[in-house]
Amino acid sequence: MNWDKSEKLFGRAQELIPGGVNSPVRAFGAVGRHPFFVERAQGPWLYDADGNQYLDYVCSWGPGILGHAHPRVIEAVQKACANGLTFGAPTAKEVELAELIHTCVPDVEMVRLVSSGTEAVMSAVRAARGFTGREKIIKFAGNYHGHADGLLVKAGSGLMTQSVPDSAGVPAGYAASTLTAVYNDEASVRTLLEEHHGQVAAIVVEPVAANMGVVVPKKGFLEFLRRITKEQGTILIFDEVITGFRLALGGASQYTGVQADLHTFGKIVGGGMPLAAYGGRRDIMSCVAPLGQVYQAGTLSGNPVAVTAGIETLKILIEDTGIYERIDRRAQTLAAAFQNAGLTVNRAGSLLSAFFTPGFGEKAGRVENYEDACACDTKAFAAYFNSMLNRGIYVAPSQFEAMFVSDAHTDALIKMTCEVIAEECS
Ligand SMILES: *Cc1c(COP(=O)(O)O)cnc(C)c1O
Repeated sequence: MNWDKSEKLFGRAQELIPGGVNSPVRAFGAVGRHPFFVERAQGPWLYDADGNQYLDYVCSWGPGILGHAHPRVIEAVQKACANGLTFGAPTAKEVELAELIHTCVPDVEMVRLVSSGTEAVMSAVRAARGFTGREKIIKFAGNYHGHADGLLVKAGSGLMTQSVPDSAGVPAGYAASTLTAVYNDEASVRTLLEEHHGQVAAIVVEPVAANMGVVVPKKGFLEFLRRITKEQGTILIFDEVITGFRLALGGASQYTGVQADLHTFGKIVGGGMPLAAYGGRRDIMSCVAPLGQVYQAGTLSGNPVAVTAGIETLKILIEDTGIYERIDRRAQTLAAAFQNAGLTVNRAGSLLSAFFTPGFGEKAGRVENYEDACACDTKAFAAYFNSMLNRGIYVAPSQFEAMFVSDAHTDALIKMTCEVIAEECS
């Protein structure tokens, strides 16, 4: 493959855009190469500026559950565009999307539309703080909740004692109110809640973690979080920016049977446009302005074009009742191919990660939390990424991301991918 045009574009991009990209992972730094520049996409395929074609298992990091440029979504968006791009005033479609979200996830009794997952989680945390009158929150190491100041904390090894921001520019004071627990570790949560008794507004969690690679909650872990937050008057927030409409129509609560007080959505809910949402219990959401005292607003919130893409995507997911069974089964086939090649695989529905755990190929490891994920062989991952890319298969350019299966990944394409996995990973 030839990447001359992408190389030239990357050179120009680096002059004006930090690192040449508008979101860091796109720079391909973790896999020791430069990015390709996408020109267009159709179904499961991406085409770059040099005319290379890739089978895409990134799917824009989650939104592309139907594959790229689904004809129904594109047509609806084109029609919406012709009627004007933004009004800053209410539209019928916002009501329709809110109703669709409520239908899919019934414990979302009220919902507010925003423009990014970052904004959704930031706002949900603010609502939880406003409702409880408490300041602290608990998050889990390796869970990503967007780049709001108070959420860019993983705390590292001194997790019970110190909260250190991950990013320069985050005031230590912000980080101090974010406590970090260990995913899948009940004791770490219990200790924090005891030490900060009566002060924790919310526990925010990815119900299936997908930002340290996919890490599935152990049996009973989410049930434990539900029970202990109820006991403590703490709000349980499921960050479903990835899992929402992905694991099932009803997201993580349908998939796991555990209800949260608040949910955040992004990615799929916008059907490929910048749209996200947060919502849940009516009493908590009633604190949000103009109904209540928690301020949150947005010039482009509920944007008519974005809302249209979201509505059409959710309608297709609702109407096509076989879709979750299909994408789950295909992900299962991929998982088996990675396992046969000696890798450790975590999977939930159509989300999966193949981990190069220490000693992969000899002994299968386990990845149950951030520390396990960090122990993986990222050099081996980079070699795998590059060999897949050279075969025209695009997986996420980091060990710590999920592989996304869409409905456009046909059985034949999955079979072809499994053959390449067997050749390149063994
Ligand atoms: C992607 C993601 C976010 C942030 O969403 P953006 O739209 O990128 O701001 C938040 N939480 C989770 C779980 C995510 O995967």
